[in-house]
Amino acid sequence: MIKAIIFDMDDTLYKEYDFVFGGFKAVSLYFSKKYNLSENDVYKKILDIFYREGRGKIFNRIIDIYNLQEDINTLIDKYRFYKPQIELYDDAIEILKWCKENNIRTGIITDGMSAVQWSKIKALKLEEMVDKIIVTDDFGREFWKPHTRAYKEMIKHFEIDGEEAIYVGDNPNKDFIGAKKVGFNTIRIIREYGDHMGVKSKYSDVDKVIYSLKEIMLKEEMTK
Ligand SMILES: [Mg+2]
Repeated sequence: MIKAIIFDMDDTLYKEYDFVFGGFKAVSLYFSKKYNLSENDVYKKILDIFYREGRGKIFNRIIDIYNLQEDINTLIDKYRFYKPQIELYDDAIEILKWCKENNIRTGIITDGMSAVQWSKIKALKLEEMVDKIIVTDDFGREFWKPHTRAYKEMIKHFEIDGEEAIYVGDNPNKDFIGAKKVGFNTIRIIREYGDHMGVKSKYSDVDKVIYSLKEIMLKEEMTK
């Protein structure tokens, strides 16, 4: 019987691109004001780079394009520490409610810089909606997924066996490896948007693939 469902956060419960694009907007606003540029032009250039090259070197490239002596770390901070306007996916709200109604405990295990992840958690109001949240970065960088520590903490917290829990995530490169090691059931969610949606999974780590979190509710056998 399943007693707890633990979720990844980014791209599992909300669209991470909303956070990313909001960060680009915050950087564009800061940068354009400081150097008296058109905010819209800066934002468009950032998006161009993003779609061409991904996220890795955007801020270095934008500084180069305008040939300015800006400190890259300031831009990174503007990106990370704006007030995010993000919302849970509808199916995320539904599944969390459904868990509560069905007496299934809920948790989140999320990687990423602690202060940034907590700012997303606050914006999404997740503390009011789930029973236990672990930001792996609070343990230290070496405990990010796929490390097993966070999964083990969940087992201890809920006083359950690994087999009585499900981990739901979107990134086959790291979400399911540690979960499987401690006996969790694993579900991969594939959504319309996200960096990892096209990644080939190692199917040994993934028990089920779903396209909406609502599918978990349909799997009656999970709660029996
Ligand atoms: Mg994710």
